[in-house]
Amino acid sequence: MARRIPEPFRIKMVEPIKQTTPEYRRQALAEAGWNPFLLRGEDVYIDLLTDSGTGAMSDRQWAGLMMGDEAYAGSRNYFHLADTVKQLFAYEHTIPTHQGRGAEQILFPELVKRCRGDQPVFISNYHFDTTKAHVEIAGARAINVLTPRALDTEAAYDWKGDFDLARLEEVIASEGAHNVAGLIITVTCNSAGGQPVSMPNMRAASALARQHGIPVIIDAARFAENAWFIRQRDPDYATHSIEAIVMEMFSHGDMLTMSAKKDGLVNIGGLCCFKDDVDLFRAVQVRCVPMEGFVTYGGLAGRDMEALAIGLKEGLDPAYLTYRISQVEYLGERLRAGGVPIQYPTGGHAVFVDAKRLLPHIPAEQFPAHALACELYLEGGVRGVEIGSLLLGRNPQTGEQEPSPLELLRLTIPRRVYTNDHMDYIADCLIDVKQRAASIGGLGFDYEPPILRHFTARLKPLR
Ligand SMILES: *Cc1c(COP(=O)(O)O)cnc(C)c1O
Repeated sequence: MARRIPEPFRIKMVEPIKQTTPEYRRQALAEAGWNPFLLRGEDVYIDLLTDSGTGAMSDRQWAGLMMGDEAYAGSRNYFHLADTVKQLFAYEHTIPTHQGRGAEQILFPELVKRCRGDQPVFISNYHFDTTKAHVEIAGARAINVLTPRALDTEAAYDWKGDFDLARLEEVIASEGAHNVAGLIITVTCNSAGGQPVSMPNMRAASALARQHGIPVIIDAARFAENAWFIRQRDPDYATHSIEAIVMEMFSHGDMLTMSAKKDGLVNIGGLCCFKDDVDLFRAVQVRCVPMEGFVTYGGLAGRDMEALAIGLKEGLDPAYLTYRISQVEYLGERLRAGGVPIQYPTGGHAVFVDAKRLLPHIPAEQFPAHALACELYLEGGVRGVEIGSLLLGRNPQTGEQEPSPLELLRLTIPRRVYTNDHMDYIADCLIDVKQRAASIGGLGFDYEPPILRHFTARLKPLR
């Protein structure tokens, strides 16, 4: 048997988490309207709602917090951050933002303004949901051209985050290159399950965009995990350093937006950076001031920028990345061995359980993946999140509930927070839930909000 990879850190500070009884959890979930989003965080034993801003900082990052320079303008920590960006990505110009969507809201309107056509679109392997929202707020349309190989959860494929390059070419032709305000390369591809984009695919997509004068934006939330996958899976990069792979990845972009709450290893923060386009940088700086804050802090405290400057480099440590990705894979393997169907292979930050296959008797309009999330909480106090028909919502034209192509329960692993023993516990709970799958019923609405309903809906069990 392959030797398990233990955590490459020891624990210096602990945060107690509350273990509860099944009766306690049943009452807590009933009070939360059978919606794990409405639970109190402290009633959750292991929280796998998201990997965004939920990671643990290192002793060096905490030490960095004490070195915050809270100057309104020109904080020392800003220069440390901007120098780190230059060193890692070779991007000359840095604007800090409060988080990823802060970068999106100041960049996209400027790209739309510069677009030569009057029917602006952005094309991406897959727009993250806030990315799509900001594309639309800026008056453009969001088009996804993900490889169709990503849709088959069972078929092993190394690069399920790739662009479908033939489709990309077609879409540029049919929309007209002059209407394409930007090509957004999302690494890893969050919406496809944290799946990596290969280097040749990034290279080819970027070359195609440049041939047509289209700016290339890298949505960089999980850039380090993507680099690790490239080193692991592409023999051409097996002996490269993670730093060298990151440098090459970003050579294929002209600018980046980043939610630093993922691979930046901080609890809050974001970045908007430019390789060399000073005019664009200045125009986005102008938007930054009223929206995010002055251009050398962008909504962050000096101490936050210091923690981020340190986190960006820690996130590239191969020992950390190996542990990180292996932990996600380990949970996936435990579940597979226990007969729980998952999206395979696992991506960088989460395991996706295929609830449609686990609970085939629950129809889409009774939300099988949400029912599974509720059962997992009742079983062991573990909170996951539905990515399926509840999230999808109704057809805006007809008001009908349409079935989502996939009904997934996402188990998102925070960085450096839980141990592999926690992974075993999660797997054991879910395998126990599977044993009683046939007795699990669906859910209906008590209260259905008109938009973004999954966050605040109240439901009830139908049996
Ligand atoms: C999280 C995320 C964002 C948005 O960032 P926030 O920090 O949540 O505002 C954008 N793109 C991707 C790929 C993300 O994962």
